[in-house]
Amino acid sequence: DNQAPANIKEQIETLLPKDAIVLLKKAGSLAETKNMKAYIIGGIVRDLILGSPSEDIDIVIEGDGISFAEAFANDINGTVTPHETFGTATVETENGSKLDFTTSRTEYYEKPAALPTVVRSNIKEDLFRRDFTMNAMAASLEPDSFGELIDYFNGLEDIKKKNLRVLHNLSFVEDPTRILRGIRFEARFSFRMDEETEAFLRHSAASIFALSHTRVITELKHIFQETNPAESLSRLHELGVLNKFLPGSIWSTKTSAVLSLLLKEWEQQETRPSIKEEWFFITACLYTENAETAKLLEAIAATKPQKKTARDFAVLMNDVTDDVFASEGALHEFAFHLDEDALFLVFLALLCSGEQSKARIVHAYRTKRKKLPRWVSGDDLKAAGLTPGPAFKDYLFQLEKAFLNGEITNRKEALAYIKSRM
Ligand code: ATP
Repeated sequence: DNQAPANIKEQIETLLPKDAIVLLKKAGSLAETKNMKAYIIGGIVRDLILGSPSEDIDIVIEGDGISFAEAFANDINGTVTPHETFGTATVETENGSKLDFTTSRTEYYEKPAALPTVVRSNIKEDLFRRDFTMNAMAASLEPDSFGELIDYFNGLEDIKKKNLRVLHNLSFVEDPTRILRGIRFEARFSFRMDEETEAFLRHSAASIFALSHTRVITELKHIFQETNPAESLSRLHELGVLNKFLPGSIWSTKTSAVLSLLLKEWEQQETRPSIKEEWFFITACLYTENAETAKLLEAIAATKPQKKTARDFAVLMNDVTDDVFASEGALHEFAFHLDEDALFLVFLALLCSGEQSKARIVHAYRTKRKKLPRWVSGDDLKAAGLTPGPAFKDYLFQLEKAFLNGEITNRKEALAYIKSRM
């Protein structure tokens, strides 16, 4: 067909801030004088077409991105930070906005799921190494063709059809993080993988095992930053890959329901967990009937307190018998030293696996434990004729358990309880 190439000049000029537009035009003119080509590329192009541009502006140079960025920074009185190993450079303008420059390049995967070998190349090759057609477009910044869309793989059409499509059949095998990216993009934009892409994904599931733990966790964190992580987890499950990323995890309609409730509650800022990250709690929902629970949660824990939480969680999930959850008092015996977040994780995990009555006990225990009364003191015990010593502590602990079980409700009853035990 002899249609004119699509052009997103109008979107650039109406959707981007004024100063950004000026910078893009300057970059285009500079490229022209240097006999290089400059394009905006990737997410920014996708978002402009979708009508809501992100703040990240990625510019790719056919030529040398770093030396171009240096010249550009010089032109606009900005500062440049080159990242030689990646062949990229960030330019910061006088008023603090940032532009990222890269050299157009191609990638070779010597083995699946490893990091690729990178070689300088042209824009087409650069687009071909990308994950999905909607992310594989660029737009020219040259004065004569400003805004002209470079779209070798029909990204524009896919966006119109809300289609998420990989560029070739080995895409997921080369880089299995794209599975998680794809699922995240489906949810974010209400897109859907086309049949072929979905089939490629299912066939690539095994390659996930080659991914390093860090890369999995990084991608999972991205999923949890989106508006509806539960939807993405459910989709991962549906595609048969959830337990490849998180071995031992289980997914049920209950998990999904609990997660939705949890997230809704967390929308109210006050109930958001502060120190620990949300995704950590959410992930706990997926680990219920598995002895690997402890190891997995501990492995995804990033900080020391999180690691403690994970270990504490494991105590109740793996190391105790069911009768521990018979009453709040019984639970106290095993959980008095466990941290608050661990108890919350246990609560979530029990809810998700449908153990409602145990979950109810944990919930009640968490609430009451925060306000254990001090009705009886050491002096009271002495007055009752007991000799101070290790037994004191034990008496007081018995009192706590009796309170938790609702057997005593005030000081009088507490004193009577002691007498009856002597
Ligand atoms: P977001 O809004 O989530 O930042 P983005 O598309 O800008 O979306 P980035 O992770 O910043 O996402 O990636 C920038 C671009 O780099 C993408 O648009 C895509 O073209 C390319 N890209 C990123 N990760 C991959 C990957 N794993 N495989 C192939 N291409 C990728």
